[in-house]
Amino acid sequence: MKVHLDRERCQGHGRCYVLASSVFESDDDGYGFVISGAVPDDFHDAARKGAGNCPEDAITLIRD
Ligand code: SF4
Repeated sequence: MKVHLDRERCQGHGRCYVLASSVFESDDDGYGFVISGAVPDDFHDAARKGAGNCPEDAITLIRD
């Protein structure tokens, strides 16, 4: 699985990196970014959780 975070849509609500810190981090301004584009199997649930809780629909999951 790969994860794409659309920086144009992100409004910095922070849900992704609070709920799924294994996949997402905050930049210095509070906007989210993806730690690694290729998500290990163990982190797929976290990636789904982050994507499902983004109020801006900024996160897209791409299955291999
Ligand atoms: S939850 Fe969505 S809007 Fe909030 S920081 Fe993450 S990507 Fe950005």
